[in-house]
Amino acid sequence: MVKELMARSILHYHERTFSTNWDANIYRGCEHKCRYCFAQYSHRYLNTEDFFEDIFVKINASEILTKELGKKKWKKFPVNVSGISDCYQPAEAKYRIMPKVIRSFIANRNPLVIVTKSILILRDIELIKELNNVAEVTVIISVSTLDEEKRRSIEPKAAPTIERMKMLKEFKDIGCKTVVLLMPIIPYITDDEKDLDEIFRVTKEFGLGSIIAWPLHLHGKTKSVFYSFLREHFPELISNYDLLYRNGTVSDEYSADLQRTVSDLRKKYRLYSVYEQTRPKSDKWTQQSLMGFERSQ
Ligand code: SF4
Repeated sequence: MVKELMARSILHYHERTFSTNWDANIYRGCEHKCRYCFAQYSHRYLNTEDFFEDIFVKINASEILTKELGKKKWKKFPVNVSGISDCYQPAEAKYRIMPKVIRSFIANRNPLVIVTKSILILRDIELIKELNNVAEVTVIISVSTLDEEKRRSIEPKAAPTIERMKMLKEFKDIGCKTVVLLMPIIPYITDDEKDLDEIFRVTKEFGLGSIIAWPLHLHGKTKSVFYSFLREHFPELISNYDLLYRNGTVSDEYSADLQRTVSDLRKKYRLYSVYEQTRPKSDKWTQQSLMGFERSQ
């Protein structure tokens, strides 16, 4: 069930090493139902535990963003609008909050980061292109496997992986920064070298830029939901997982093996783990870009 919320504030700071320290979550909870979702912990602050069914949408997100992004002391930090939920999850098809949100970013020339597993984002490609002319936009997809049967069981409501990769190519082609997160790599299920090779191969073929790879972590609620998934689909793996995940993350030995495999694939495809910060564009750059944009219209 989707419930509507009126937000009082929306920009939040988080200490992070990846992407950006600023989030604006448009939705809370996520209908994509990825069995490994790390963000499930965040629902405990909302008096409900069901991250996949109790979805909250901030219907005034764009008005609050326009106000907060327009404050004098705000320094045009890049903002991720999908930190703990997917802003293009199925509810967005009905609510259409994101076009208004992107317009708030355009009005303030503020850089934007979007992480999604949905191709609904293509609906807004013209607006994203407009924003990318005045402030950078980074579009990030996360993928776990190109094997559709496995993907359907692991990420039941997300778009097929190949569709996500084709969608990302469209954003690369209009000049956005793009990143493939090969995450999580799921031990004994999606970590086969041939499967990982295929993701690197398509990333290279489509020219999607950098690829960042992480193994699955299992903490708190994520662990219990993932174990239910294992019991249903891969019961034979439970004892292996008990051994591998004694501390919430993979063993050192597994981690070293995986790093070797990923490193070999990086060399084979010359694809590296590079993340360039999403930035505002300088006024000079923006003027030139807008003149070119206008001329091409
Ligand atoms: S798309 Fe992201 S936020 Fe949504 S369920 Fe999957 S991992 Fe969680």
